[in-house]
Amino acid sequence: MKIHEYQAKEILRQYGVPTPAGEVATTAAEARAAAEKLGTPVTVVKAQIHAGGRGKGGGVKIAKSPAEAGEYAEQILGMQLITHQTGPQGQTVRTVYVEAGSDIAREYYLGMLLDRGNSRIVVMASSEGGMEIEKVAEETPEKILKVWVDPAVGLQPYQARELASGLGLDKEVSSKFVRFTLAVYAAYIGTDASLAEINPLVVTKQGEVIALDAKWNLDDNALFRHKQIAAYRDPFEETPQEREAHEVGISYISLDGNIACMVNGAGLAMSTMDVIKLHGGEPANFLDVGGGATEEQVTQAFKLLTSDSNVKAILVNIFGGIMKCDVIANGIVNAARKLSLTIPLVVRLQGTNVELGKQILAESCLAIIPADTITEAAEKVVAAAA
Ligand code: ADP
Ligand code: MG
Repeated sequence: MKIHEYQAKEILRQYGVPTPAGEVATTAAEARAAAEKLGTPVTVVKAQIHAGGRGKGGGVKIAKSPAEAGEYAEQILGMQLITHQTGPQGQTVRTVYVEAGSDIAREYYLGMLLDRGNSRIVVMASSEGGMEIEKVAEETPEKILKVWVDPAVGLQPYQARELASGLGLDKEVSSKFVRFTLAVYAAYIGTDASLAEINPLVVTKQGEVIALDAKWNLDDNALFRHKQIAAYRDPFEETPQEREAHEVGISYISLDGNIACMVNGAGLAMSTMDVIKLHGGEPANFLDVGGGATEEQVTQAFKLLTSDSNVKAILVNIFGGIMKCDVIANGIVNAARKLSLTIPLVVRLQGTNVELGKQILAESCLAIIPADTITEAAEKVVAAAA
């Protein structure tokens, strides 16, 4: 799950990470009042959407008075903010964060995520903060310093000092950076985060180390341990299909293609998407109905898939393990009838009772295109969508 900058900063504060004071606003009047309350000579009005690059897209404005903060909020609220992370359609801004302006001396980058290759959390720091870190990683990877954390002992102060020295920080700033980095790490572990990025982490002219921006992704499978964070979920940041899926308990992610997939198991879902791409198609979604999908869930899943107007064909790829193929086949037939499905439907079943399953599909009189192998299924669905 992704959360907003202001929510990530609430988490950071709980772990003692220095952040500027700030207030959330959903109207220009509230933004103006927030700037008055903050009382700093400069405030920054920041669009709250689940994407970075807001500054470049016009979603971060520096205001020199509360009145100006109100004016900027007026401009930003309701705008369709387009950044390199939103896609061309952008994202509607419903909330702004009005924050005390910082006296920036230098901007740095600090990030943490699980490095699956090393089975360890990697902590990264760079002197090239503020801008697109993806570009730095691509063009000048040597400018990104990395340390890997031993899970048994956690991030050690000497490792944070190694990063500080690599960034060329002076002694006083360096000790603040070390404390800062250890606190961010504690927050990362404490919230079961999957990605934390402070970009920029700034050193102010007064020598303070502050988080000016915060991106925080959380492990969905651990959210049950963090009720308060789970409540940060913003349904407006999800597509209507994703919202619906969340409510009925199906793993679903919208994608840009036109071939809908319904698969059981995340691994099979990913390989199905890979094979579709291999045959020149583009998946419209990731959908995992779960190992023990019921007929009800299959119907819900079809409803989701067909509510996306981009979908031109559907591929069902189900392995009948826990769930038998004949049960799945009945689910598919009933759902297709109930929804009067008109989009081409390719079905590949394997596993327990597969022959019976195929027979049910064949006798249904529905225009279902059967396939035996995953390759055959991909070829047929790509042709059907074209
Ligand atoms: P994004 O990464 O989405 O563009 P940021 O929060 O990083 O948004 O803001 C972009 C830039 O705006 C920062 O690199 C920084 O230069 C400036 N900025 C953001 N917040 C503040 C602040 N509180 N005080 C001063 N400058 C800020
Ligand atoms: Mg940023």
